[in-house]
Amino acid sequence: MERTLSIIKPDGVAKNVIGEVIKRFETDGIKIAAMKMIQLTKTQAKGFYAVHKERPFFDSLTDFMTSGPIVVMVLEGEDVIAGNRKLMGATNFEEAKEGTIRKDYATNIEKNVVHGSDAPETAAFEIGYFFNDLEIQRR
Ligand code: ATP
Ligand code: MG
Repeated sequence: MERTLSIIKPDGVAKNVIGEVIKRFETDGIKIAAMKMIQLTKTQAKGFYAVHKERPFFDSLTDFMTSGPIVVMVLEGEDVIAGNRKLMGATNFEEAKEGTIRKDYATNIEKNVVHGSDAPETAAFEIGYFFNDLEIQRR
């Protein structure tokens, strides 16, 4: 069993697709082990996306991520890191496969509805960034 961090980004919350995104996870057999809605400060967004701090899109991305509430979830399941990335689709929605979350709901390469951890190490860091052990259920 594996865990990953999922975020429904401010654009996804604003588009009223929280339920739609969660439905796709549950239909795929993924279980939600923790969930909350929060609004990040700029400092918190920079800390979360620290790996991207040298990228040209870092300032815009962290502004966007603080622009409204987000839904943060711990997902649990077999191969859930890869499985979630598959449901999300490519970063650039124009390259995302049909039927993926980003293909269906993204606005542009930045406002792409969802975040998902990309490896076990980043999943561990990202889950710990938002949740403590007591807030995560065993599903
Ligand atoms: P995420 O980490 O959010 O799950 P990802 O792993 O598919 O997405 P990353 O390369 O980690 O993509 O980029 C993080 C986020 O930064 C992207 O999801 C997107 O919101 C934004 N981003 C990535 N590339 C660009 C770009 N070229 N221009 C603007 N924003 C970008
Ligand atoms: Mg990433």
